[in-house]
Amino acid sequence: MEQTETIYDVIVIGAGPGGMTAALYASRSNLKTLLLERGIPGGEMNNTAEVENYPGFNSILGPELAERMYESTMQFGAEHVYGDVKRIVVDGDYRIVEAGKKTYKTRAVIIATGSYHRKLGVPGEAQYNGRGVSYCAVCDGAFFKGKKLAVVGGGDSAVEEGTYLTQFADVNIVHRRDELRAQKVIQDRAFKNEKVSFTWNAIVEEIKGDGQKVTGVVIRNKNTNEITEEAVDGVFIYVGILPQSDAFLDLGITDEEGWIITNEHMETAIPGIFAIGDVRQKLLRQITTAVGDGGEAGNRAFAYIEDLH
Ligand code: FAD
Repeated sequence: MEQTETIYDVIVIGAGPGGMTAALYASRSNLKTLLLERGIPGGEMNNTAEVENYPGFNSILGPELAERMYESTMQFGAEHVYGDVKRIVVDGDYRIVEAGKKTYKTRAVIIATGSYHRKLGVPGEAQYNGRGVSYCAVCDGAFFKGKKLAVVGGGDSAVEEGTYLTQFADVNIVHRRDELRAQKVIQDRAFKNEKVSFTWNAIVEEIKGDGQKVTGVVIRNKNTNEITEEAVDGVFIYVGILPQSDAFLDLGITDEEGWIITNEHMETAIPGIFAIGDVRQKLLRQITTAVGDGGEAGNRAFAYIEDLH
């Protein structure tokens, strides 16, 4: 492994909205800051067609918001290099970040690696992602006023988000079993809601579209193998959301599902290691909340490094 000579004040892992904001705050406080990213900067914003809930823009394309954030982040001298981080090692007051054949030495690390939504893996899902297929009701629900939606899943997220979507649309919850896994109180709320219907023992086999947007779902009944097609304008998929935290599990800073636990200052159980955005244990995973976490962590990293001197 090749150890780089520079000693950084802060290394930010992941250049989504959280990581970019953390790098902006750290570099603007004159900290020597490195942003390591294994893809293109922007994170999940690159997979988002239209963002309507980021203040300052009535509506903006996700990739454009990503580009603007990147420009404003880089103006204060942060370095950005490619790196797929596999491990962080604690070495006294230093933190060693391993990415491929390179290792980087730093005083503080901010983990901003995000989460990912489990996919159904059916035809049409990728093709119509952002054009009727969604994994986020808070993000995309408002685009479906007066429409008909299918929500796939039967856990807390599916039922809770399905109920949330009824303020805009009629919702059919399509679930592979004959009962829900969601908490009782969430189930009761859904059963009482006239705008929620259920299709049980149902496997989504395909998402249909007209080339531009979603037009329906093909459903197979698990017991009878009968195939039906339901006309819908959108499909919200809730079959699991997972943290991108595999590289940090050995640090003992995660809960049993792998979400990183922090306090309100984004500090983990290990001094000098912070976590922000979607990868941490929290309720609302949005651009605004990732950005807020990033500002707090960049600022706290500055205070932490001051205290080391
Ligand atoms: P991410 O944006 O996920 O970025 C994490 C980055 O870390 C990625 O670039 C990834 O490549 C990198 N990374 C991961 N692991 C490593 C590693 N080991 N080494 C190096 N780099 C690594 N929110 C809204 O507020 N409004 C919306 O309209 C909206 N629409 C959405 C639409 C879709 C389809 C999706 C999926 C999400 C949407 N969201 C929306 C949610 C929002 O995008 C996320 O909450 C936000 O991007 C989280 O930011 P983050 O910085 O925590 O992580």
